[in-house]
Amino acid sequence: MDTKKIGKQQVTFHRYHTIIVGAGAAGMNCAVHLYEFMSRKGVEAPQDRIAIVTRGLELGASRMSGSDKQTYYKQGTSPNVPDCAKGFADTLTAAGCCHADLALIEGITSLREFYHLVGAGVAFPTDSMGTFIGYKTDHDPAERATSAGPKTSKFMSECLQKQVQRYGIPIFDRQEAAQLLVVGAGKSKRIAGIVTAEAGPRSSGAAPGQWNVFLATNVVLAAGGPGELYRTSVYPAGQFGLHGLALKAGLAAENLTESQFGLASTKFRWNVSGTYMQAIPRIFSTDAQGRQEHNFLADFFPSMKTMATDIFLKGYQWPFDPQKIENLGSSLIDVLVFNETQKGRRVFLDFRQNPVGTRTMQPFNIDELAPEAFNYLQDAGALQETPIERLAHMNPPAIEIYKEHNIDLYHEPLEIAVCAQHNNGGLAVNKWWESSIPHTFVIGEMAGTHGVKRPGGSALNAGQVGGLRAAEYIVNVYGKDAAHSAQDNEAIDRQIQDLLGKLERWSRASGRTPEEVVEEIRMRMTASAAHIREEEDARKSLGQAIELCKHIRDKGLPAQDPQAIHAALRAEHLALASVAYLKAIVDLLEQDGGSRGSYLVLSSHGIPIHPDIRNPATGEPLAFKPENVKLRDNIQQTQYDESEPDLFRCTFITPRTAPLGRKSFEPAWREYREGGIYREL
Ligand SMILES: Cc1cc2nc3c(=O)[nH]c(=O)nc-3n(C[C@H](O)[C@H](O)[C@H](O)COP(=O)(O)OP(=O)(O)OC[C@H]3O[C@@H](n4cnc5c(N)ncnc54)[C@H](O)[C@@H]3O)c2cc1C
Repeated sequence: MDTKKIGKQQVTFHRYHTIIVGAGAAGMNCAVHLYEFMSRKGVEAPQDRIAIVTRGLELGASRMSGSDKQTYYKQGTSPNVPDCAKGFADTLTAAGCCHADLALIEGITSLREFYHLVGAGVAFPTDSMGTFIGYKTDHDPAERATSAGPKTSKFMSECLQKQVQRYGIPIFDRQEAAQLLVVGAGKSKRIAGIVTAEAGPRSSGAAPGQWNVFLATNVVLAAGGPGELYRTSVYPAGQFGLHGLALKAGLAAENLTESQFGLASTKFRWNVSGTYMQAIPRIFSTDAQGRQEHNFLADFFPSMKTMATDIFLKGYQWPFDPQKIENLGSSLIDVLVFNETQKGRRVFLDFRQNPVGTRTMQPFNIDELAPEAFNYLQDAGALQETPIERLAHMNPPAIEIYKEHNIDLYHEPLEIAVCAQHNNGGLAVNKWWESSIPHTFVIGEMAGTHGVKRPGGSALNAGQVGGLRAAEYIVNVYGKDAAHSAQDNEAIDRQIQDLLGKLERWSRASGRTPEEVVEEIRMRMTASAAHIREEEDARKSLGQAIELCKHIRDKGLPAQDPQAIHAALRAEHLALASVAYLKAIVDLLEQDGGSRGSYLVLSSHGIPIHPDIRNPATGEPLAFKPENVKLRDNIQQTQYDESEPDLFRCTFITPRTAPLGRKSFEPAWREYREGGIYREL
């Protein structure tokens, strides 16, 4: 560590072999694997070569998010139902736009990583024979899903953090990412490190406003999804991610159009999937002040049986899915909830009462549910009188988690909305999770490894697998020493000077605050880039997003003190990320993209959503465009290009295939011993 005065600022330089930006389940796991691979290779003091840098140890989706029983989707462990990596991969690629090599690796290494977590102390449940118990999500035959309770990903990060601390790997907490340092060009382009602004004294004793530079031979980006892009979001507050910076540094992104949206509580952000819906609560709306209760769902269903069964099905058909709307499918509920909130009304789940229908409907009767719902509840012994009793019987921790946040489901209704929850797309990676820039790896939700749809729980599996793969490659291919040339140092100093000069100018800027800018971005993204999309509207929003970026570039943002500087940097990065996402959406719609994954595309000539959901302007039933299945074999890439009018360029590539041929043992062993496996890209 050394310090240098750059401009008016004292800057501290830290040098490592590998830095990991982000301390969620993915980042922590990668640090653990890096240490273990280095130790196995006999590298001295691995803990001095690795560092974790994060905006907040307690922030991010892994630490703060979950559901009724947060799912970890792994290869099946049932003693009598066979499963295989290829079967696992086929599920991941089924809806298209997914690289088959990544999917197969996520299958092959799934159990290795699952047992790694078990070894780290995550309490996944077993039976008395030691079988890790699984359950089915969306009818997968192999019972691949498991859970350590509502807070699975929190336990994962905590257990892995303990291991990181046991190994003595340093964690730099409360570091606001300001810039990725880029050196070289063309094939020798590298991300040499990250500049951060210290947010304050909590962990380090450093004063707010202190500048740090973390230089490394390898950079692993593990900063999670861009949750703050959306106003209506179940991502934890403060989850900004690093997409704007990564894209500007030149990393290619894939499938940015594909995010997941679904029903979640908003006062305390939590998914209301699984047993929350399987308990079949009443769903009602009120006006903004909480008056004028209305059981609005009933107006759109022909019978109590269909309505109550749909509420049940939302449990394991949780993400909004345009292919589950027709014929009163369960995703009609998301549309109706959204419709109601669009009118300025608020929507609630009420666990104290069963669903209430119209006067012409039969009252709720659990025996009258469709067999799929009734049999499930009967098998679970959950045929009690009220939803709260059924929920308490099936999953008491699901009630406790709300109690921990001062919401008592026994006595009050739970406000919900259709929220942004996960980004299936992200930064492009190869089969070692290396990005389009060598020596920079992207793991966890930041990596765009999922296709159009993913089974619930596969995000956590992918995050662990990515960390393992990146660590293995780094240690076996990129040596053990930190290295930077004098030429790089000049380029690095220049970029830091430019950054500090920009912030100096911003200290005199006026106009809208960074918070107001972030709010504008979030409103726009929720309106035009969430689960309901329309081409003209998205194009208009893209234009506004580009304008905002140019305004920030030319006029800056007011940033007079350290807190304001951090907020301004976040707003700047988020503004650029929003352009990338909107550009990807507009481009795909222009390529005749239809409704798929977790969003629907409105179109006057499409499939009616429901005869009674009408376009307020024309009075015609609102309709959506079906999926264009031809696009399943095209992965959209998005790349920053300042010379483009839209700041980004989109192209299509064909998904990579997976090699399924087997080598016999001896040649494969030789390749392994000689490191040939790392050259086979
Ligand atoms: C409500 C909810 C329920 C979910 N349920 C499931 C489920 O059941 N199964 C499943 O598989 N997945 C689920 N997911 C998704 C899953 O939780 C996430 O994809 C996963 O936890 C992401 O892990 P990560 O390590 O990539 O990122 P995160 O856990 O989000 O961690 C990001 C890290 O990066 C840091 N960071 C962020 N921005 C910056 C920055 N600009 N500079 C520096 N550091 C930064 C953060 O402080 C944090 O340390 C759910 C998500 C939500 C929101």
